[in-house]
Amino acid sequence: MDPFSVIVMLAIHLVASGGLMFIVWRLMPDAPGLCRWAMASTLFGLGYLARLFFGMQTVDLIGVASDGVMLLAVLLFSEGLREFSGSPLAPRHQRVALWVLVFAAQASASVLGGVLWRHIGINLATGSMYAVMTWSLVLEIRRQPLALHAPLRLLAAMIGGLGALTLLRAYSIATEGMAVAFKGVFAQAFYIYASLAAVVVAMTMLWLMFLRLNGRLAELATRDALTGVYNRNGLDRALQQHFARRDAPPLTLVLVDIDHFKRINDTQGHAAGDAMLKAVATALLAQLRAGDFVARIGGEEFLIGCVGAPDDVALPLAQRLRSSVGRLQVLAADSSHPVACTVSVGVSAGFSSYAGWEAAALQADQALYEMKASGRDGVRPFVAA
Ligand code: GH3
Ligand code: MG
Ligand code: MG
Repeated sequence: MDPFSVIVMLAIHLVASGGLMFIVWRLMPDAPGLCRWAMASTLFGLGYLARLFFGMQTVDLIGVASDGVMLLAVLLFSEGLREFSGSPLAPRHQRVALWVLVFAAQASASVLGGVLWRHIGINLATGSMYAVMTWSLVLEIRRQPLALHAPLRLLAAMIGGLGALTLLRAYSIATEGMAVAFKGVFAQAFYIYASLAAVVVAMTMLWLMFLRLNGRLAELATRDALTGVYNRNGLDRALQQHFARRDAPPLTLVLVDIDHFKRINDTQGHAAGDAMLKAVATALLAQLRAGDFVARIGGEEFLIGCVGAPDDVALPLAQRLRSSVGRLQVLAADSSHPVACTVSVGVSAGFSSYAGWEAAALQADQALYEMKASGRDGVRPFVAA
């Protein structure tokens, strides 16, 4: 197979996938990294086309400039990966300085050493950057959600392979001369792998975006928009996840209801009511331990899943929840008077299976009702009749 045809196909793949990623980036509400990947892929493709038609075997202005474009593409690619994984990027001037430095070294190698050193330089530089990228990707994978591991591993394998082949190419050009750069089995294998990598990497990036978006949607479907704690869906999922674990410890439900909340709305306004709901949710979250969870299941009712038995854990927790909410002083945006509230709390008996949660919720509700009837602002455990 003629490597030049493969390079043309590779360049077309890269420009087309760059364009596709750009369209997806414009359409998606939040796609970290994708814009940089789109730019990187397009620049790679344009770089290949420029060097193919104007300066592959020589050291001229377009050839040297196309090397600069390639180096920029690899840097944008790795920045996109960092952005996707949520790692901070270095300040812009440092990133520009890195590119200038690598490009200056590459341009000097080309001008001083001629076409041989131009090809050794660009393969050495891009190969090393791929190797660093693969290494940081491998370290990053375990910090990412499990659902992203398969595509990230595939990405690391493809970039790692490209890095190894590119460094090998630098070595073989250095030892055997320019003749091996575009002719022979190794050159063919290199460009076939690069074309494969261009397609697989672009697909994997869109796969990652799809998974990320899917995760966000699942998150939105389980969270209450006002307070950020779980909604009923989220509560159900948290209960299922808890009891799906082997040797899952028993749970107790704690139902917290704000006292006379309607009055806060009526006298201070709906915005003050909303601010109070957010503050209460934050105060509840602050008291929970690992494994506990909280859901807003009614207007001003929060249900807490507490790991442990009522007497040992849930009742002391309920008391702490009651007093920490009681200390809140909430200032609504349009008011100068802080608003306070109290809560009534009902605590269920312990239960040990997912099937038991609805009965426990009724127990907590019954205990809460009794607390309301006997004057509010207190904690009441469920007592079987
Ligand atoms: P009790 O002590 O018996 O629980 O009295 P209460 O006023 O707290 O309970 P009630 O059920 O009578 O009123 C609940 C109020 O919560 C009525 C409703 O307008 C308000 N509410 C429900 N959802 C929201 C919300 O998202 N924001 C605001 N600001 N108010 C809400
Ligand atoms: Mg209430
Ligand atoms: Mg209520």
